[in-house]
Amino acid sequence: MVNLTEDRAQEKAFLSHAPGYWPNVSPELWNDWKWQLKNRVTSLAQLEEHLELADEERGGVLLSGDKLALAITPHFFNLIPRADAEDPIRRQVIPRIEETWSSPYDMIDPCGEDSHMPVPGLVHRYPDRVLFLVTDRCASYCRYCTRSRVVSGVGEQELHTEFEAVYRYLETHTEVRDVLLSGGDALLFSDNKLDQILARLRAIPHIEFVRIGTRVPIFLPQRITPELCAMLAKYHPLWVSVHVNHPRELTIEVKEALERLADHGIPLGNQSVLLRGVNDDIETMKTLVHKLLICRVRPYYVYQCDLINGSSHLRTSVAKGIEIIEGLRGHTTGYAVPQFVIDAPGGGGKVPINPGYILYHDNEKIVIRNYEGKIFEYPEIGNENVQFAPQREYHDEYLYS
Ligand SMILES: *Cc1c(COP(=O)(O)O)cnc(C)c1O
Ligand code: SF4
Repeated sequence: MVNLTEDRAQEKAFLSHAPGYWPNVSPELWNDWKWQLKNRVTSLAQLEEHLELADEERGGVLLSGDKLALAITPHFFNLIPRADAEDPIRRQVIPRIEETWSSPYDMIDPCGEDSHMPVPGLVHRYPDRVLFLVTDRCASYCRYCTRSRVVSGVGEQELHTEFEAVYRYLETHTEVRDVLLSGGDALLFSDNKLDQILARLRAIPHIEFVRIGTRVPIFLPQRITPELCAMLAKYHPLWVSVHVNHPRELTIEVKEALERLADHGIPLGNQSVLLRGVNDDIETMKTLVHKLLICRVRPYYVYQCDLINGSSHLRTSVAKGIEIIEGLRGHTTGYAVPQFVIDAPGGGGKVPINPGYILYHDNEKIVIRNYEGKIFEYPEIGNENVQFAPQREYHDEYLYS
């Protein structure tokens, strides 16, 4: 029997799980990020050495290998219980047979990135900012990865980022003020290599803002060394977005890694993916966002799970995401409430999805409701020349076309 109260207490606590499944490893090796990478769990035999696999998992490991590699750092693997195949950490990183199923909605490139790549490795979708895919490797692989067509190097396509061509593109495109490094995971590069990339970007005068999207602080907190942090701090303003989905991922080691980044002046945000059986309930999300604030991380986005091939078993309804935001907004610290978004299939970018707080709006008044459902009116100034997004017109067009 699952003891819910005890589970919740475990989720709220910051725990350390080392050495866990690796009782004979010295703390020096354990804390060496290169040892962690070298000793990742990557095979069925290694999984079965430590875990009792469900048939769905064994089948998943055997049949998903040509889509996205299996790799889990020892640090992250220690969060996985020996026997429970439904465990929320386990569902994120251990393949299941459902990955080989395809739903009619599944796509290879759900966010239409390849069609917005002016240079291999650079996605330029929005007017003023770009996504720079610097590597196809991650510390561990998330089974729902939106970029699994290239990430881990075993899938449909290969990533061949043309670094010099990217720098030339950015130098001539003066409208780009914001560069987001992603992949893959940029923090797997050596300090030197990353230093060179950041220096090249920082030498471009119109680039005001650089950010790194990374799951390394969560999968491989040992990588967040004082040396790395000192190097990153040369390139302010530099922001980092991490990716945490479940409160148990926030261990003592992860908390310390995040604090190190924050102590070096790096503002931290978090992006979660809403996943069935992982974080699709209000209490789990509330615990997660509260723990993030304790770690000095501001919840930034919650993504509706992209329509990536073989992820239908991890997807929830959109209504579930709205319910979660409804359950947070007003009920807890405003800083703790992320924006729920759908990355529009085919390449429309991120679209905010909100509970409906506007009940009525015309030239004379707006009628709103608060988090408790209480209704209020605020007078509208009718004669201002304000352009609303044409919601109703678009809706009609959509219905009748
Ligand atoms: C998410 C994303 C960005 C950054 O979007 P923000 O809303 O500014 O965080 C930029 N480019 C692409 C292609 C993206 O997918
Ligand atoms: S860390 Fe990000 S890029 Fe890497 S596998 Fe996970 S979701 Fe994909």
